[in-house]
Amino acid sequence: MIFHVKCSIATVLVFAILVCSCVAASPAKGEKTADKAMEAAIQVVQKKCKVVNPVDQSNRDLLDVLVNKSNMLDKTFIPDELVTVDIPFGESVTKDRRKMRKDAARALEKMVATMKKSKLNVIGISGYRSFQSQLYVLSGYVKTKGFSKANRTSACPGQSEHQTGLAMDIGSTGNHGVLGLSFGKTNEYKWIIKNADQYGFIIRYPLGKEKITGYSYEPWHLRYVGTKLAGVLKKNKWTLEEYYGDQDQDLK
Ligand SMILES: [Zn+2]
Repeated sequence: MIFHVKCSIATVLVFAILVCSCVAASPAKGEKTADKAMEAAIQVVQKKCKVVNPVDQSNRDLLDVLVNKSNMLDKTFIPDELVTVDIPFGESVTKDRRKMRKDAARALEKMVATMKKSKLNVIGISGYRSFQSQLYVLSGYVKTKGFSKANRTSACPGQSEHQTGLAMDIGSTGNHGVLGLSFGKTNEYKWIIKNADQYGFIIRYPLGKEKITGYSYEPWHLRYVGTKLAGVLKKNKWTLEEYYGDQDQDLK
């Protein structure tokens, strides 16, 4: 995979240089600098992201699978039954990112349809992401924020719930689908806090649990765990880490 990444970056660089020789010099020069910055960020991610406990093969497809900064998925793992979620998405959301595992997709469709009846409109922003896609996502943030800040909201490859196909980042249409803390102030979010467990969803990174989950408060990140477990977590105000007694680990 590292070879692939380096290879594709090299291809992009060669292409940028070729373009540079044929077209005006200044934009291509900027592009080349941007590519170099991205390449540097990818190297930082590959150096700083630790290899942690591998999620057991028999657990990877379970709805209650724990994936976090101390439990990671293999880079080759792709969940079964990824389907396109039939809800509105932001215009620029790619095909892959509109996908979730079938059970999660159908549950989210139901929830979004119910919300719509109360004039609450959410849109999908990012669902399934492969290991490699996560490498680029985190590297993009590292480029602008540096590693430790970026890793408070964006996971290392293999450590993202998005690779399970059970997570979806959402926004409200009133909020122009912006992924951010302001979603936590919307009526859509208030409804989700109250009702999402009935559809099997939890807010995976709640406010005040940063030291337990290892991630900042993310009102936009929904995780499907099934209705039974979602009810248990809501009733006890537990994160998945607390449910598994995993909270003593140092998840900074
Ligand atoms: Zn997310």
